[in-house]
Amino acid sequence: MAWDYAPAPESRDIVSIQREYGLFIDGQFQPAADGAKFATVNPATEEPLAVVADAGITDVDRAVRAARAALDRVWRRMPGRERAKYLYRIARILQERAREFAVLESLDNGKPIRESRDVDVPLAAAHFFYHAGWADKLEYAGFGQAPRPIGVAGQIIPWNFPLLMAAWKLAPALAAGNTCVLKPAATTPLSALLLAEVCRQADLPSGVVNVITGEGDTGAKLVTHPDIDKIAFTGSTEVGKEIRRAVAGTPKRLTLELGGKAANVVFADAPLDQAVEGIVNGIFFNQGHVCCAGSRLLVQESAADLVVDRLKRRIDTLRLGDPLDKNTDIGAINSAQQLDKIRTLSAAGEADGGVRWSPQCRLPERGYWFPPTVFTGVSQSHRIAREEIFGPVLSVLTFRTPEEAITKANNTPYGLSAGVWTEKGSRILWMAQRLRSGVVWANTYNRFDPASPFGGYRESGFGREGGRHGLEAYLDV
Ligand code: NDP
Repeated sequence: MAWDYAPAPESRDIVSIQREYGLFIDGQFQPAADGAKFATVNPATEEPLAVVADAGITDVDRAVRAARAALDRVWRRMPGRERAKYLYRIARILQERAREFAVLESLDNGKPIRESRDVDVPLAAAHFFYHAGWADKLEYAGFGQAPRPIGVAGQIIPWNFPLLMAAWKLAPALAAGNTCVLKPAATTPLSALLLAEVCRQADLPSGVVNVITGEGDTGAKLVTHPDIDKIAFTGSTEVGKEIRRAVAGTPKRLTLELGGKAANVVFADAPLDQAVEGIVNGIFFNQGHVCCAGSRLLVQESAADLVVDRLKRRIDTLRLGDPLDKNTDIGAINSAQQLDKIRTLSAAGEADGGVRWSPQCRLPERGYWFPPTVFTGVSQSHRIAREEIFGPVLSVLTFRTPEEAITKANNTPYGLSAGVWTEKGSRILWMAQRLRSGVVWANTYNRFDPASPFGGYRESGFGREGGRHGLEAYLDV
């Protein structure tokens, strides 16, 4: 008998979204100097959620000045054990207001509440807790006896994990004694603005954290502002390169966390049911809007038919729809532009000769949606095997020997992450030594912990976030 889940929507009532939001500068919400604004919409319904201020050059300048003043007046002088108290406070408030953050994030971003509630928000709190612990122990971190902060950090984040990326950037910067100007992505500004309110609730001295909303040109103005000491950017490789050019020849420090095209390598001896779960989590978590998504499945030829078969059966059970429904596995695509990009690359996948498959699933009429999709018959030259799609689209390739798996896995300009599935520990180590990526997961995928450094190399960027290594990016060492 076929039966379905009853709807289990999370209530929106926990969050009160204002009609308009200002820029958070020097502890106050204020409109843009020229009054410019833009709207943010719910990607699942296309309904406008709020209007936010669009920061221009005057606002960027005000925010940087506020951060500089707070740095000199209070933050860099404050003993680490005092700074830690603020970080602990922010972490605890995030936990107390977790449901509110989860609902707001799902509304503004389109991700399933199951993920915002169980991943984004708890991990964001964990980053503040973890870095609070470092704030009074920096001299033991291995960077000299009295490591100093770099100064004012300009931080630009993307739309795929809006709150979590804000936490990844702010927590280590603040622990190390820097002050910050954060620019969230234009399509997902609301959780960063709520986090600004949390900073106020935690009595964080004004100017230590500033949040300026705006589009790419706001980010560019922050990058080129002469009084910024460090830029931390997460986003596309293309913009990362632009930023690197803009910063070249200046004393500004730079860390870049960019795109990826990760190989998820499954050997025939792997526990296949577990591997199938890992493949699904690797590519369909957060609609595939993940820089380290396992978007290239490399499966050993002798097991390929079996794995693809089981994978399709598993995908058939995924539930796509209302992000606020607790049963939903796949939410909305974050924006019309991103949906366009996914459609274009999927069409290229077919044109190049890949065989496209999606389960039977009804897409909601309004909003931005794309079904989970698997391409078989993909070869390394196909665009879908080379370019970052940043959507729920998996390309399946095969290999025969471990050497071939390594050659294919490394055949990409990126180097962010990879996965290996096998029952042999020695093979895991052999593979991990040869895979050219910053993170290698073994018999799991998409695992994150604030104590574990994350980052890539080559076109995936440089610098690490998390762990002791992540602190280095915010210390003058
Ligand atoms: P972007 O790189 O354009 O956006 C990332 C952040 O940078 C946003 O806050 C953006 O602002 C800002 N920004 C844009 N242009 C500039 C600039 N010239 N100077 C400074 N800051 C800038 O990514 P997109 O949102 O356009 O996504 C495009 C593609 O990038 C995706 O399809 C995906 O492939 C990849 N991507 C990778 C991410 C990752 O985590 N590695 C994250 C996001 C995207 P705004 O959004 O307001 O324009």
